[in-house]
Amino acid sequence: MATIRFKNVQHAYPPPKGQDPVYALKEVSQVWEDGSAYALLGPSGCGKTTLLNIISGLLTPSEGKVYFDDQDVTDLPTSDRQIAQVFQFPVVYDTMTVFDNLAFPLRNRGTDEATVKKRVHQIAEMLDLTANLKKKASGLTADGKQKISLGRGLVRSDVNAILFDEPLTVIDPHLKWQLRSKLKELHQQIGVTMIYVTHDQVEALTFANKVVVMYDGAVVQVGTPVELFNKPKHTFVGYFIGSPGMNFLPCKIDRGQPVFHNNILATSHPVSDDLNGRTVVGVRPEFVEFADDGIPVVIEKIEDLGRYQVVTVKHESEVIKMVVNEDQRIPAESPKIHFNPDQIRIYCDDWLVEGGDNE
Ligand code: ADP
Ligand code: MG
Repeated sequence: MATIRFKNVQHAYPPPKGQDPVYALKEVSQVWEDGSAYALLGPSGCGKTTLLNIISGLLTPSEGKVYFDDQDVTDLPTSDRQIAQVFQFPVVYDTMTVFDNLAFPLRNRGTDEATVKKRVHQIAEMLDLTANLKKKASGLTADGKQKISLGRGLVRSDVNAILFDEPLTVIDPHLKWQLRSKLKELHQQIGVTMIYVTHDQVEALTFANKVVVMYDGAVVQVGTPVELFNKPKHTFVGYFIGSPGMNFLPCKIDRGQPVFHNNILATSHPVSDDLNGRTVVGVRPEFVEFADDGIPVVIEKIEDLGRYQVVTVKHESEVIKMVVNEDQRIPAESPKIHFNPDQIRIYCDDWLVEGGDNE
């Protein structure tokens, strides 16, 4: 096992003739600590697969270095990296039995048959494949085949890391939930570094100790689910995490406090007045409430989601979402809203403004 480290890694795929290269990864310096469970979260096309393939060695980055502990592995072939990788779609040998498919990564490295048998049975048990071990893989459903792929990724115990690239895409929702819990459980048992790529925040937040959020070829924040919720470092994180996402409203800064359409929004985290760039104030819908003394709004929409309601309101032309508990009253006349001063964040050109009291 090893700590995996990226130092100024960038990657551009070869451009079509005559065009400039476009960087799929802009610049990533990132440490993947040995034994942690990471989720790599971001929208389609932001560079997740590119990053994963650089870890496993399927891709050599155009720039920068990759280290496993102190060893520079940037030019080391995949076969020498001891990485298991599970792809989005099943990779199985159709003509082989399920047993032989699962045994393949072990036999490939000369593991003795007694150990092969033991490990294959353990993994098959975990993935509910025991009854199918003697069947040809070709006879299994798409779900079943993807379980074999997962099993092949999990069967070796001597790997530096296991990489999962949106592995549950083809799996039906109920089984998805089950398998995700199993992966998490397995991580707790074996403690191998796992990096789990997904574009689904729920999947990321339930699987990982640490979530790495990517946007447009860059890592914008690494944090626990709570940190990402409470203190998004970039507006994209605020918008992408949470449902609904964070509200962002244009503001000016006056004496450290944000001013939104002539309304001073008291904040416990004052910032400097001379910020150079576009400033917005960010507040999560959970921290906006109705108050007698507040900013007048018009109610646009109320969605009842059971335990809570999502209320959409407008002030001037700005839309603000609120999460309101079912026991809270929604005012019928002249509604006004208030933002929790502890939960107001200020962003300049999309990055959180730190410093001052803005811890
Ligand atoms: P993700 O996995 O987050 O969806 P990818 O890493 O697959 O993102 O892709 C990142 C960017 O690189 C995208 O713009 C994609 O179109 C581009 N890209 C990916 N693979 C290739 C390739 N083999 N050749 C050229 N461009 C590619
Ligand atoms: Mg991908």
